[in-house]
Amino acid sequence: MKRSLDSDQYTLQDGANIAVVGGGPTGSFFSIFALKMAKMIGREITVTIFEPKDFTKDGPGGCNRCGGIISELLVQTLAVEGINLPDTVVRKGINSYRLHTNQGSVFIATPSLEKTIATVYRGGGPKGTLGQDMESFDHFLLNQAIHEGAVHKTFRVDRIDFRNGRPLLFSKNVEIMQADLVVGAFGVNSSSGKIFEGLGFGYREPSNVTAAIAEISMDEDVVVGRFGNSIQLFLLPDKGIKFGAMIPKGPYVTLCILGTDVGARTVDDFVSKPVVRAVLPESVPYRIACRCLPKMNVGAPKKPFTNRVVLCGDAGSTRLFKDGLGAAYIMGKAAAKTAVFEGVGAHNFKRNYLPVYNGIVFDNYFGRFLYFVIDRYRKTTILTKAMLKVVEKEQRDPKNGKILSSILWDMFTGNERYKNVFLKSVKIKMHIDMWEGLIKSLIGENR
Ligand SMILES: Cc1cc2nc3c(=O)[nH]c(=O)nc-3n(C[C@H](O)[C@H](O)[C@H](O)COP(=O)(O)OP(=O)(O)OC[C@H]3O[C@@H](n4cnc5c(N)ncnc54)[C@H](O)[C@@H]3O)c2cc1C
Repeated sequence: MKRSLDSDQYTLQDGANIAVVGGGPTGSFFSIFALKMAKMIGREITVTIFEPKDFTKDGPGGCNRCGGIISELLVQTLAVEGINLPDTVVRKGINSYRLHTNQGSVFIATPSLEKTIATVYRGGGPKGTLGQDMESFDHFLLNQAIHEGAVHKTFRVDRIDFRNGRPLLFSKNVEIMQADLVVGAFGVNSSSGKIFEGLGFGYREPSNVTAAIAEISMDEDVVVGRFGNSIQLFLLPDKGIKFGAMIPKGPYVTLCILGTDVGARTVDDFVSKPVVRAVLPESVPYRIACRCLPKMNVGAPKKPFTNRVVLCGDAGSTRLFKDGLGAAYIMGKAAAKTAVFEGVGAHNFKRNYLPVYNGIVFDNYFGRFLYFVIDRYRKTTILTKAMLKVVEKEQRDPKNGKILSSILWDMFTGNERYKNVFLKSVKIKMHIDMWEGLIKSLIGENR
């Protein structure tokens, strides 16, 4: 009896108002799906997205700073959902990696030729790119949400109270909306988490690390000639840096450095390393057009919801060190499905949203283990050499299983869950190949 009363109280009725705090990918995905699903069951709801950023602006001001890699899986999933990334959004299709280590480099082609990774910008592009006939991913998605019927307001929400059991949102001390549900999709790059911590239901901002991004400007022909359709991935034995990646995008290359000890000097130190310098052009000039130090979620909060409030995307749980955009899609859609079909009470989110949320948290345990193993490989010369030997052999021989190549591919793209990468990594054949590679490297060392 109690449950059906709760269900009525927390079921979204015609005329329900949803406030979405943050119009990045998570906020837009939530809005697109909430509106689509409400239409499916003939319910009229209003979704208002509060997002102060202008995603058409160049430089960090218009940008939700990231590498902008969209996995093959996400490109295809979005297409199935009717969200086709237009050519004006995709800066480049990626079909291969070159993995660089201190012991040499190796080429890894996409395990499946029909699939291609897309690279995008999250804002108007690096400083000075205005006026080009391109659109940012976040602008495109926000427009898709508006197309579905969402209302976009440029307020920054800075306070939330409850009145008569319903959340009340404020901006600059002015009441802007009373909502039936507030969706926190504000990421980790602002102090907005404090607003939700202040609601007292146990939410804590996700633990995070600082990452570094730099946009390296070059002549477009140079980018095409040196980078082609490949991402350059660096696994170097540096303390505090998990990996670095250079992602070609027209006349720019986006450099992303991820790790646990990244700061203001990291980009300059990184590009001065011989292995990295060898990838950049020697004779033609390049310059760093813009740079930033965004935060990255590395630990999900335990309590991501209460009655009429749910936290999603980077503000909640996301994939460790990769595929934040894929996680934004999964979590935004899961929250929308719960809100529209089940209700907006804590018990609804616990039953229907939490399992998806915890699925990502659980998968990240496998991710942590895999990064631990990769750290051993990149820091131990003989293991790095053995890894290169196995990948070289796999890439040379098309009949070969390409297990290690596909593990490395999947580790750094959003294509696979970490659990599936882990399951590939326990295949006996790969270990036999690794031992062979290790022995060959040892013999090579002793000669
Ligand atoms: C260095 C780096 C590289 C990355 N590379 C990739 C990659 O290549 N591929 C990938 O899939 N993922 C990548 N990610 C992860 C990805 O950027 C995030 O997972 C993704 O942006 C999360 O989306 P979101 O909508 O949850 O948060 P965000 O993108 O951070 O969006 C939050 C939005 O909320 C708005 N906001 C904040 N506070 C308020 C407020 N109070 N009121 C109103 N609006 C507010 C902000 O303006 C912002 O637009 C990377 C991350 C980092 C740090």
